[in-house]
Amino acid sequence: MAGSATPSTAASTPKSRSVFRAQTLGALALQVFQAPCPSVVKVTVEGKLDASVKVQVPGAKMEGSGLPALCRAGKTWTVTFLSSSAARGPMTKGSLMIQGFDAVPFCVAHNDQGHTFVQSKGKWRYTALSAPRWNWRENAEKPTEGTAADLEVIGARSADSVPHLKVHVRSASEVELKRCLQGLALREAQAEEDYDMLLAQVTKAKTAGVDREQIEQAEERLRGMRKMGKHVNDGCDKESLKLLMQWEKVTRCGETGVNETCKASPDCPCNEEVNCGEVLSIVPSAVQLLLKDFGPEGDKELFDELSASALAVEEGSVWKAGGKLIFSAFDRNQSVQALTRMLNNVGRARCVKMLLQMVKHSEAEYGGFVTAIQINFHPNGESFHAQHRDIYSAKQRAGPSCTCTFKKCVGTVCYTVGSSRQVLLETMTDMFSAVKPCGEHCTGRRERRWLHSGDAMYFNEAWNANHTHGIPPIDGESGPRISVAFLLGAEESRIYQKMLLPNEVPQ
Ligand SMILES: [Zn+2]
Ligand SMILES: [Zn+2]
Ligand SMILES: [Zn+2]
Repeated sequence: MAGSATPSTAASTPKSRSVFRAQTLGALALQVFQAPCPSVVKVTVEGKLDASVKVQVPGAKMEGSGLPALCRAGKTWTVTFLSSSAARGPMTKGSLMIQGFDAVPFCVAHNDQGHTFVQSKGKWRYTALSAPRWNWRENAEKPTEGTAADLEVIGARSADSVPHLKVHVRSASEVELKRCLQGLALREAQAEEDYDMLLAQVTKAKTAGVDREQIEQAEERLRGMRKMGKHVNDGCDKESLKLLMQWEKVTRCGETGVNETCKASPDCPCNEEVNCGEVLSIVPSAVQLLLKDFGPEGDKELFDELSASALAVEEGSVWKAGGKLIFSAFDRNQSVQALTRMLNNVGRARCVKMLLQMVKHSEAEYGGFVTAIQINFHPNGESFHAQHRDIYSAKQRAGPSCTCTFKKCVGTVCYTVGSSRQVLLETMTDMFSAVKPCGEHCTGRRERRWLHSGDAMYFNEAWNANHTHGIPPIDGESGPRISVAFLLGAEESRIYQKMLLPNEVPQ
C-alpha cells in the first residue's frame, strides 16, 4: 500500500508521528479482527491453457473475490481461504473443480493429526485428466486432444505459513489422453451389467495404465458378476454345448461356389480375381493331413478334442461374440500360450498337442509367427461371423498405396472342422482397399465359397486390405462347425494379448 509509512520516515516529524500512531493502532485493530480467521489454504492456478476453476472449502471463506471466471493462461491466479472460526483444526478438506474435469478432493494438514493429500490419501502430486466424450461402444474415432492438470499440494512449513495447492493446466500428452479415455470407458462399462464389455474394458484399461484403484474396483465388480453367473452367456453353458457340439450332428453340403461380379461394368477393377500382392488359398483336407499322427480322421479328432475341452474347463471360457461363440482362455486372452496353459491345467494334453502341431504347420507353411488364436464355435446354421477384416496391428494400413508394400508373412490361416459352411468374400472399394470402384453405380464383387471339414483358408495382409470375409447364416439344416484361426505376424510375439469388445470388429 502506497499510504503506509515506514517507522523511520514516520518518526521524522512530530506530526507524522501521530499519523503513524493512528495507523499502527488501525493495523493492530485489523490484526485483532483477523486473528480469529487464520488462512487455511492457498490455491494458485497457472498454465499453458485457459481454465475455469472453482474451489470449495467447507467451513472456510474466500478472501477477496477469489478466482476470476476464467483463469487465463500465462498468469498466476491466487485464491486464499480463511477459516470461519478461530481454530483451524487438524486439517482442512476441499474440492477442486476444473471445468471438464472430475472434482478432485484435497486435504491440507494444520498439525500432526491432519493429512495432506490431493486426489487420494498419500498422494502429494496428481495429474488430473480430461478429454472430450468418446463413443467407445461404437468404436468411434478417438478424440485427439485432452487436458491435463498437474496438481501439487505443499504443506505448511511453519505454524504461520499457509498450505498451498498448485494447479498447472496444460495439454495432455498422447499417453495421458489414451489413459484418460480408457479410464472413462472403464467407468461407463462399470455402471452397466454387461460382463463381457467390462472384462474387455478392464484389459484395455490395464494396458493404458489407468489408475490401479479404478481397475481394482472394476475387478471387484467382475467377481461379483461371476458369483451371479453373468459370465456365462446364453447358449454357452456346458449343458447346451454338450448337446450341440457333437460330431454325429455334423452336416456336409454344397460343392460349387458363386461369384457375383460387379453388375455395373464387366471391366470393373472389383472383378479382378487376384490383385497385386494378394494371396488367397483354400486347401482341402489340410487338417486330416497335418494331424495324421492323431488318427485317420484328424478333423474329427480335433473337433472331438475341442468340444470335450470346452466341457472340461471352467464355464465361461466359451462366450458369445457377434453371431458365434468363442472358445478361449477364461480371461479371454487370445494368445496360444494362455489357451494351452488353461487346457494343460485340466489335463487336455492331447488337445494342446494338436493345437501346437497346427501352430507349427501354419508357421512352416505360410511363414511368420502365430500371434493369436481364435477358436469359433458355430453350433448350427443360425450362427454367423459378420463380414470383417482381420486386424494385424494397431496401425492398420490405410490409403490407396500399392498393396505390394505389405509385409510378407502377415496373414490369417483358418481351419474348419465339422459341418460345411459358406464363406463370403467381398471385394471392398473403401479407403483401406487398393481396389477402385468402376463408377458410382459399382456393385462390387461377392464370392461365396464352401469350406468343408479339414479345409484351410489362408489370406495375406494385401488380400485382407482389399476384401472382407465372414460366415453368413445358412438357410436350412446345418450341424456344428468349429473354426481355428491363427493370426500370423512378421515378428515373434506370442504373449501378445488380443482382446476384443463384443461390438468390435471380430477377428
Ligand atoms: Zn504393386
Ligand atoms: Zn464395379
Ligand atoms: Zn477374420
